[in-house]
Amino acid sequence: MMIRQVEFGKGFVGRLSYGADLLSELTALCLEKDVTCGRIEAIGAVQKARIGFYNQANHEYEFMTLDQPLEITNLTGNVSIRDDKPMIHAHVTLGDRDGKAYGGHLAPGTIIFACEYMIQRIEGAVYIRDVDEQTGLPLWKS
Ligand code: ZN
Repeated sequence: MMIRQVEFGKGFVGRLSYGADLLSELTALCLEKDVTCGRIEAIGAVQKARIGFYNQANHEYEFMTLDQPLEITNLTGNVSIRDDKPMIHAHVTLGDRDGKAYGGHLAPGTIIFACEYMIQRIEGAVYIRDVDEQTGLPLWKS
């Protein structure tokens, strides 16, 4: 277990670009605004999506492409450091026209239709990711 008390600080609220890749656009925003530790949330819609499921047995992501318009009913994520750069880890829940939901790890290839985001810094904290042997995932080590 890892426990730290943190302080949430100022942030950014805005809209992302039509046709851009959701994960790339969020990453570019964090790089531009020098957000290296924080939390992210967003809602909106995507033209298509690519989400991952982590196979715990073989330690590999299995990706699924959803080639249809979907609502971003929720995006929750965080920003921390991996390989000296901000890395966004986000999960999404996406709804189709029947109200059915898909969910998973946000992957490159998710294309924005419209997206409103909120990014809030965590002040004075540094979280660094490194590969965890037990899970095979890049988890927070320090
Ligand atoms: Zn994930």
